[in-house]
Amino acid sequence: MKEWMKNVRQVVPYVPGEQPKETDIIKLNTNENPYPPSPKVQEMCSRIDDLRLYPDPAASRLVDAIADYKGIGRDQVFVGVGSDDVLAMSFLTFFNSGRPILFPDITYSFYDVWAELFRVPYETKALDEDFRIRPEDYYGENGGVIFPNPNAPTGILMPLAAIRDILDHNRDVVVIVDEAYIDFGGETAQSLLADYDNLLVVQTFSKSRSLAGLRIGYAMGSPELIRALSDVKYSFNSYTMNQPSILLGAASIEDEPYFRETTGEIIATREWFKEEMRGLGFTFPDSRANFLFVTHESVPAREIFEAARAEKIYLRYFPKERIDNYLRITIGTREEMERLLAFLREYLGR
Ligand code: PMP
Repeated sequence: MKEWMKNVRQVVPYVPGEQPKETDIIKLNTNENPYPPSPKVQEMCSRIDDLRLYPDPAASRLVDAIADYKGIGRDQVFVGVGSDDVLAMSFLTFFNSGRPILFPDITYSFYDVWAELFRVPYETKALDEDFRIRPEDYYGENGGVIFPNPNAPTGILMPLAAIRDILDHNRDVVVIVDEAYIDFGGETAQSLLADYDNLLVVQTFSKSRSLAGLRIGYAMGSPELIRALSDVKYSFNSYTMNQPSILLGAASIEDEPYFRETTGEIIATREWFKEEMRGLGFTFPDSRANFLFVTHESVPAREIFEAARAEKIYLRYFPKERIDNYLRITIGTREEMERLLAFLREYLGR
């Protein structure tokens, strides 16, 4: 080994879902929104100018739009390049005690990657047999807590009372609730911010606002938490948010009717799809997200995954203990789900 190689950081990177180059596919593998962004976003595109200049480092226009929409102070909002950026920055900012942080064994598979990258010790807590988070697992001494709500890839929503319970047992560390999928029928933990200055609630424009390609995420928390995040951001890269993201993100926030209509559509499709899938012999936790985490009574998940792929229907399969007989299926349009069901009926001989 060459001498310099000994000092290269060794990391096993997170592997995002496949983004195939073909266009004639049904893409249900990365929890994207099947609808286009608000027409107001499209309108604003033609008004993007001043790309010659650096963007506002504070991204004030976007921060203000989010703060007004959520009814909180501008000093309670931090924006980043997708919630991935916000979460990574949060690991760097808040998880420095040297004690292990806690998160579920089955969850967003970026958490352990950031922990390894930033050398944050961590412990995972097993979900129960029904894939539920057990609040009591998070009572002990730790260096911080993070979990998605609804959890991914299970889609299970934890009630606010359980989150409050976790917070009551963790007054001395930062607790992060990753609400990437909260807009599909969950109750946000935002109301708990008033009672817990150590709570950070993270949301994204990628799913419910159809803007995965723009990369906008944000955190809501006490001014102390937000200031700490900003200090770290400004020590790393002043201009995380580009000018188009700032303008188009704000335009999206300003179109509440479209947001309600499209998220409502996805929720309705999901509930109908659940019934159809039950009829085909699938079982699944009761998802409140824009995906369903399914297993079949007789056919292995990997086989279905591969057969669907051959038909250009992309689903997500995780070759990981406990969940390697499950598929995560994003809720697309009704028509896309009809086509998936037609394939499944034929493949399963139903
Ligand atoms: N949290 C969870 C639980 C997710 O599934 C995702 C999507 N991969 C993210 C955060 C990150 O989403 P984004 O960076 O697009 O906001």
